[in-house]
Amino acid sequence: MSGPIYFYKYVVTPQVFFKSKYTYALVNLKPLVPGHVLIVPLRTQVVRLSDLTPDESTDYFNTLQLIQKFISWHFKADSLNIAIQDGPEAGQTVPHLHTHIIPRYRTNNIGDQIYDKLDDWRFQSWDERRSEYLAIGGREGRKKLAKPDDQRIARSQEEMAQEAMELERQLAEFTVTSA
Ligand code: AMP
Repeated sequence: MSGPIYFYKYVVTPQVFFKSKYTYALVNLKPLVPGHVLIVPLRTQVVRLSDLTPDESTDYFNTLQLIQKFISWHFKADSLNIAIQDGPEAGQTVPHLHTHIIPRYRTNNIGDQIYDKLDDWRFQSWDERRSEYLAIGGREGRKKLAKPDDQRIARSQEEMAQEAMELERQLAEFTVTSA
């Protein structure tokens, strides 16, 4: 893989386990469950789903299908959540389009509570969240507000790089076995 790959302003190259012409898949800094990965367009200007060009959309959806099949196979998932928080009011915290792929299981199933976890709601009400969003300058202001790395409980770079290498290897195996 050539050149640094960005998720918003973060260089995530060692976390990337798949890259196509316009899209990549990466392991998560704070996965909700093992196998919680993200699908992201390479172009950092793509903040919302509607910002994708037609060619990028096709590539994005093809990548999504490939990786959801792979994650389901590799993590032996019974089902998957495939989720986009499209805009800050919908819970988007990183202003660069990303689709969550989250493996789900019959046992220990927390049902729709997964969305509460995904949302990580920090504001007391919708109105407060909305006024805060507008007060910091809407979409442009939100872009400057990504939480600093030191305020997050994050996995180590080594752990993520190791997982990305393993997933890349397993994906090659999956591609051969499912051909
Ligand atoms: P959302 O709330 O839909 O914007 O989701 C943001 C997702 O990005 C969460 O699952 C975070 O754990 C994940 N995330 C944030 N920063 C990084 C990063 N540097 N590398 C990988 N995942 C990240």
